[in-house]
Amino acid sequence: MPNALIYARISKDKTGAGLGVDRQERDCRKLADRLGATVLDVYVDNDISAYGGKHRPGYRAMLDRMTQGGIDYVLCWATDRLHRRVDDLREYADISIKHGVLTHAVTAGIIDLSTGSGLFAAQINGAFAELESTRKSERVKAAQEQAARAGKWLGGRRPYGWAFEDGAPVIVDDEAERIRVMHDAVLSGQSIRSIVDGLNSAGALTSYDGHWTRNTVRQVLKRPRNAGLATYRGQILDGHASTFPAIVSEATHRAVVAKLTDPNRARSTSNRVKYLLSGIAQCECGRLMVKATVKPQATSLYRVYKCQASGRGHAHKKMEAADAHVLDVVTAILHSDAGLDATPSSNDDARQQLEDEAATLRQMTDEAADSRFRGTIDQRQMERITVPANARLADIERQLADLHAASQTPGVLSAEGRATLAAQWDTGDLEERRRILRAAFGVVITRTPPGAARRFEPSTVRIAVKANAGPLTPEQVETVVAAEVAAGQTSITLLP
Ligand SMILES: [Zn+2]
Repeated sequence: MPNALIYARISKDKTGAGLGVDRQERDCRKLADRLGATVLDVYVDNDISAYGGKHRPGYRAMLDRMTQGGIDYVLCWATDRLHRRVDDLREYADISIKHGVLTHAVTAGIIDLSTGSGLFAAQINGAFAELESTRKSERVKAAQEQAARAGKWLGGRRPYGWAFEDGAPVIVDDEAERIRVMHDAVLSGQSIRSIVDGLNSAGALTSYDGHWTRNTVRQVLKRPRNAGLATYRGQILDGHASTFPAIVSEATHRAVVAKLTDPNRARSTSNRVKYLLSGIAQCECGRLMVKATVKPQATSLYRVYKCQASGRGHAHKKMEAADAHVLDVVTAILHSDAGLDATPSSNDDARQQLEDEAATLRQMTDEAADSRFRGTIDQRQMERITVPANARLADIERQLADLHAASQTPGVLSAEGRATLAAQWDTGDLEERRRILRAAFGVVITRTPPGAARRFEPSTVRIAVKANAGPLTPEQVETVVAAEVAAGQTSITLLP
């Protein structure tokens, strides 16, 4: 039975998947089983880089064992675990050949160093490993230089909040105070616009005597330097302090950056959307549509909504026509009793009937109780009236509860809900109307049928009435697209 040694090494520069020593050893033991070999010893060097001539006690011990003879295989996970320098390889190859040891790597198969091609392959592997180690140490050096440079001022426009004394940054008190106020303002929910207005109306100037804009405020607020953090090419370098003294805490800095990059904030404040349906209308593929400008000829230019995925399968629609259509249809829906079919009104009728009946029953039981009190009927007579009446009343309560639930059920805007929305819709600005659309409606734009390219085709802008807020789900889009609409007709789908 052949004998095998296992060598495993883990270095700081972990590459590949799962190169822990345990994993290397486990894979090598499986390999030994396949070779029918007995594992005599396992040699491990942990967390020591082979490059740079560092002492590898495990490796040295294994070479000693190899020279004692009786070893058929050295098993390793990959040849670069075994040796990373060509010099290492020469010594290893000499011992291997002299004592007839074959090297078997889990990832590379058998390497017979006694043959020319095997030795050559191992040399190539070793040479690459050596090159990679060299590159790595160059990268580390470069990174250290970058880190050293990152915290220093490399010249250019003076950053707001600091001045330089003998080349070293020092805090400018009034500017630093304004920076802190700006941070507080963002965290308390103020818009960038109001911060800009506040700075400009107070006569504050930027570090180059300019007026504040939304951009300059955002730039100043997003600087990691504010919290004394060093950066290189936009990345915060952990563990490297900037030479700039901090103006705010790191926690404050991170909270403000999180707020500034929150997509909800962009929508509600600084980048106010000016288009009714952008980010609301959905292509028939389900994606949200965005505003785009089309310039078919040198003299003409118009706006469209287009699918975020462009191409043949995706819709685009002239903005003006789509907006006008949606405004018309939604206004009609909100103001019309018939707009949502008969469901809500028949619901109301049924509720009215039940409530009338309940009122009658209550009157009957009240009168029966009065009669009993006056002594004109006896207990049994009273119960013959009240027991069935109370049973029927309980039944009616259940039915009314069901109807109420139904009126809250998706797809049906109750009459009251519709009246409230109609009032908000009629008086609301663009943002308010977008809010209402997002809350209760869906807009799906389908592709323009062939031959209808020049005129607006109402059947391609489909309105859904829904109960869930936000965009339609893929299933809902499918339902809306599947609804049959004749050319020239408006489509309104009630979604469950
Ligand atoms: Zn699409």
